[in-house]
Amino acid sequence: MKIILLGAPGRRKGTLAKKITADFGVPQISTGDLFRAIVKDSTPLAEKVKAIMESGGLVPDEVTVEIVKERIAKDDCKNGFILDGFPRTIAQAKELEKISQIDTVILVDVPNETIIERLSARRTCPNCGEIYSALDYKETTCKKCSATLIQRDDDKPETIKNRLEVYENNTAPLINFYGDMVFKVSSAGSPEETYRPVKTFLENLEVK
Ligand code: ADP
Ligand code: ZN
Repeated sequence: MKIILLGAPGRRKGTLAKKITADFGVPQISTGDLFRAIVKDSTPLAEKVKAIMESGGLVPDEVTVEIVKERIAKDDCKNGFILDGFPRTIAQAKELEKISQIDTVILVDVPNETIIERLSARRTCPNCGEIYSALDYKETTCKKCSATLIQRDDDKPETIKNRLEVYENNTAPLINFYGDMVFKVSSAGSPEETYRPVKTFLENLEVK
């Protein structure tokens, strides 16, 4: 099962991906996570990617496509995968068509007003990647591994606005690009409420 998760930043794609992985056994490929791992090194690529991420802009398509290609080639992807944060441009989507045939595109949707509030409240575990919302999780350490939670630099208000603009200009056109393949779900409710229709949809999906 090969799935694309589409949606603006802060629409809980990561949380949804983890639930799909748990039930359907396909790994989550988050390009954001892959890039966050890359910038920990001190290579020229790391420096370049770090600056782009801090501004909320997009890493160049060639770099991004190469990284996704390598990841998809790994053994755990042979029965499928969930792409979280990729493709983010039409050019990336066209490159993906050359690498793999996608079964479905899930569009995670929510009214714009809540996005900034949600993103500003997002806390991330730097150790295991678990995501929390400061709106409903009042602890400062990770439930799973006890590391101290952080606010990602790109979840700070200055950057959020730019990320939303980048989404509108570059990524939103993918909704039309994928047309009939798109299954739309609202993430206005709880993570469980968001997941329920997705689960039913995927259980009935015919996989190529
Ligand atoms: P979000 O929280 O918006 O989903 P991600 O964690 O997916 O953010 O990505 C963080 C940053 O990594 C992005 O702002 C961008 O700079 C870079 N990035 C992630 N995926 C892509 C992609 N497919 N193409 C270009 N840049 C990307
Ligand atoms: Zn943790």
